Amino acid sequence: MNDSARRDTIIAIASGAAAGGVGIVRLSGPLSAPIAGGLGCPALQPRHAHYARFRDADGEVIDDGIALYFPGPRSFTGEDVVELQGHGSPVVLRQLLERCIALGARQARAGEFSERAFLNGKLDLAQAEAIADLIAAGDVRAARAARRSLDGVFSRRVEDVAEQLVRLRIHVEAAIDFADEPLDTLGGAQVRAGVAQAREALARLRVDAERGRKLRDGLHAVLIGPPNAGKSSLLNALAGSERAIVTDIAGTTRDTLRETIRIDGLELELVDTAGLREGGDAIEREGMRRAREEMQRADLAIVVLDARDPEAGRQAIGDAAAQATRQLWVLNKCDLLPQWPQPPDADSIALSAASGQGLEQLHARLRQLAGEGAGGEGQQGEFSARLRHVQAIALAAAHLDDAEAQLRHDHLELAAEELRLAHQALGEITGRMTADDLLGRIFSSFCIGK
Ligand code: GDP
Ligand code: ZN
Repeated sequence: MNDSARRDTIIAIASGAAAGGVGIVRLSGPLSAPIAGGLGCPALQPRHAHYARFRDADGEVIDDGIALYFPGPRSFTGEDVVELQGHGSPVVLRQLLERCIALGARQARAGEFSERAFLNGKLDLAQAEAIADLIAAGDVRAARAARRSLDGVFSRRVEDVAEQLVRLRIHVEAAIDFADEPLDTLGGAQVRAGVAQAREALARLRVDAERGRKLRDGLHAVLIGPPNAGKSSLLNALAGSERAIVTDIAGTTRDTLRETIRIDGLELELVDTAGLREGGDAIEREGMRRAREEMQRADLAIVVLDARDPEAGRQAIGDAAAQATRQLWVLNKCDLLPQWPQPPDADSIALSAASGQGLEQLHARLRQLAGEGAGGEGQQGEFSARLRHVQAIALAAAHLDDAEAQLRHDHLELAAEELRLAHQALGEITGRMTADDLLGRIFSSFCIGK
């Protein structure tokens, strides 16, 4: 975004869309204070609450309320910001918005306030994303984690590793100038130790960011299994509702059906897919195609098998479950066996979706997988993260591995390049080195007024 585009004044309703006692309209840009004046507000003192009557072009009062003025750079966006608090009527807020637009403001795009805050250096990118995550947080633990990311807990961890990489780059780049000498005569041991340290720090960061991502996104679990194994019944039992249609005609769950359930504050998305069965009619085959697609995006495949003949079930699903990151095997309908079976390993659970027996074990196992052992309150220092961040960390780690390999062969130029790429990957998290199109994609997913 160029400077002239940034210099205009934007406006949006900053409080939620629903009617409420108080509604807030927020302006950011150089015209903020003059527009407030145009509404009839008195001369606004910075950071003081002013009672005002907000007037239309013909002097008619639209609403009365409070006006607040935060001159840049000491404001959320870093620009002059005015907040108008009126009554939370959507009609009144709309009128206020339109009057401000008539006075020279422009309706803000989704995420544009946060984008300006980022562009003006008030927040880094991970912090700006944390604002959206905080607003969308579904429970206390996710909100706390987003709050910590907004405070910069995640960014500082990223910056720490980035700092280590900068030092290594400087060292290696300097050594390149003495190309004839092997690295070991140029403090190579120190560089190698530094690379090893950075790798460890990155590995820890990756684990924590992955946990943060699960907090934000929830564990994405997909239920699969042959027709009639009891997938829909299990989904209902887990969700405690009757949303999934349960029938005893094989192949009736043709569409995918999503259900999000919460276990100890962690979100678990279940997708009941069409029973996997080779052949079948066109609709059934489409369902199977979707099932495989779902599986590739899943953290966990919950494979439901009829305990009376699990082998037949395993054969029916083929390698579909292997596409998910992890698998959990549910031996269902154990109530129909003469004796309750002993599950063969920790990733298998014997249960009966019909009677509910064994369900608590499945719950416990899911809790464990979702939180990786973390308690319901979350851990100290736990922060929120996004898939994009986890991928960037993984990319940085891969480049660091390559850098280490190049160093082992005294290929200093190549090592320096790998270190640069690792550094760049981390820079994309905080937005120090982020392409414009990525910024556009990130901020457009925010809601208007944020
Ligand atoms: P899906 O095709 O895999 O989704 O299977 P459904 O959930 O539709 O179940 C198929 C049939 O098996 C239905 O008649 C269910 O009532 C029955 N069923 C599911 N789970 C159990 C169970 O644990 N025990 C018994 N006895 N029947 C079950
Ligand atoms: Zn079903």
